[in-house]
Amino acid sequence: MGGNSKKTMVIRNGTLIDGSGSQATQNEAIVIEGDRIRSTGRLPGDVNLEDRDTVQVIDASGQWIMPGLIDSHCHLSFGFPQMSGVESARGTTSPEFSALRAAKNAQTILRSGVTGVSVPGGTWFIDVAVRDAITAGLIEGPRIACAGRFIVTYGGITDSEPSWVGTPEHVNGVLANSVSEMITEVRRQCKHGVDFIKIADSTWGDTQTISKDELTAIADEAHRRNARVTIHSRGSDSTRAAAEAGIDWIMHADLATESDLDAVAEAGTRIVPTITALEHFLEIGTEFSRSQREMDVIKRNMNGAVGVLERARALGIKVLCGTDTGNSPVMPYGELHAREPEILVRCGGYTPMEAIVSCTRDNAFAIGLENEVGVIEGGNLADIIILKADPLADIRVLQGGRNLAAVIKGGKIVDLNGREAEEGTLELQEAAV
Ligand SMILES: [Zn+2]
Repeated sequence: MGGNSKKTMVIRNGTLIDGSGSQATQNEAIVIEGDRIRSTGRLPGDVNLEDRDTVQVIDASGQWIMPGLIDSHCHLSFGFPQMSGVESARGTTSPEFSALRAAKNAQTILRSGVTGVSVPGGTWFIDVAVRDAITAGLIEGPRIACAGRFIVTYGGITDSEPSWVGTPEHVNGVLANSVSEMITEVRRQCKHGVDFIKIADSTWGDTQTISKDELTAIADEAHRRNARVTIHSRGSDSTRAAAEAGIDWIMHADLATESDLDAVAEAGTRIVPTITALEHFLEIGTEFSRSQREMDVIKRNMNGAVGVLERARALGIKVLCGTDTGNSPVMPYGELHAREPEILVRCGGYTPMEAIVSCTRDNAFAIGLENEVGVIEGGNLADIIILKADPLADIRVLQGGRNLAAVIKGGKIVDLNGREAEEGTLELQEAAV
C-alpha cells in the first residue's frame, strides 16, 4: 500500500516511558505522521479519530509504550549461530549464503522489538549491503550502523591462522601490521560505505596488540572521512590508549583499572561492556567445549567487567547496552538483545529506568542517530514498541520479544506474525532431522 506512508497513526492511551529518563506517564495520544512522531500528550484538535481512511488508531490501554530497543553490539554476518544441516566451519563458506542469512537475522532481530543495531564488524561488506537493502525497502530489518572487518595486528583477536595463511576473506578480521597498512584499510573500508571502523586488540586483554600511535593514526584518518571508530579492548593499557587516541567508543574494557577509567571519563568516551556474552558463555560455555582454562579467564573478565560497570556509573561514563549476539554458535538472534539492561540492574546498581535509557536514548549514539531515535518525542523517527507488561517493574519484560504487543519502525507496523511461522518452520525442520 503506497498510500500508507501518508497516513496518520495515533497510539491512544497506555503508559509512556519515553526513553529520556523522565517519569512514566499516562499518555493520551502519540501522533505519528509518515515516519516521524508529531506529538505526544494530548490529542491535537485537528486529528479526527473517526476518519479511518487517513487515521490508523492503536489502542494501548493497559499497555506500556517505549522507544524501540537498540543493541549497540550485534554481529549479523559471522555465520553464527549454527544452523542444523549447514556447515559453518569458521564463518559461512560463501558471501552469497552469508548475505542472505544476515538478511534473515536482521528480520528476526526487528521482530523481537529491536529497531536499531550497531554492527561492529562482519565478513566481506555484507553488513553494508544488508543496511542498504533495509534502507531501500528491499528487506525488513532494524536501522543499522556498521563497520567492516576488524583491523587487527598479528596475535590480535580473529588472527587465528598461521602467518602464511593470514586472514582469508571470510574471516571477520583483516591484518594490518603498520600504520600505513592500517590507513590503507581505513580508506578501503570507507570507500565501501562503512559507518565506522572497528579495531581489535587481543581476545581476552592479556596482551596489548596495537599501539597508541596506531590507534591515533586510524582514528584521525577515519574522522577525516567522517567515519567513527570503535575498538574491541578488554585490557587495561589498550583501554587507556584507546581513550587517549580519540576512539569514539570502547567495547568491553573488562580489565580497565580505576585510573584507566579516569582517562576514559576525561576523554568522554562511551563504553559498551557487553557482559551479556561473558555471562552467557559462563552459563553454557562448557557445552560449547570451551576449556576450563578459558572458562577461568572468562570468569576473571566477568568479575572485572562488573567492577567497571559500577565505577563507570560513579564516574558518569556513558554505558551503552550491547550483547555480542551472533558472535558465536551460542548467541542466537532475537533472544539476548535485552539481557544487558537486566545486567545493569542486577550487577551494576542501575535502576530499571536508567537501564532503559541506556538501551534506547544512549544507544542511539552507536547507530549514529542521537536525537533522532531512542526518545519518543515530537520530531523524532517513530521507532516504538508497545509491551503487555511493565518493564519498570521487571526489566526482563523486554527480553526475547515475549511481551510485545506491537513493533513500529519508521511509522510502520512490523508484522510479528512471521515470528510464529518461523517457529512452526523450525519445528518442522527439527522433526525432519
Ligand atoms: Zn563483538
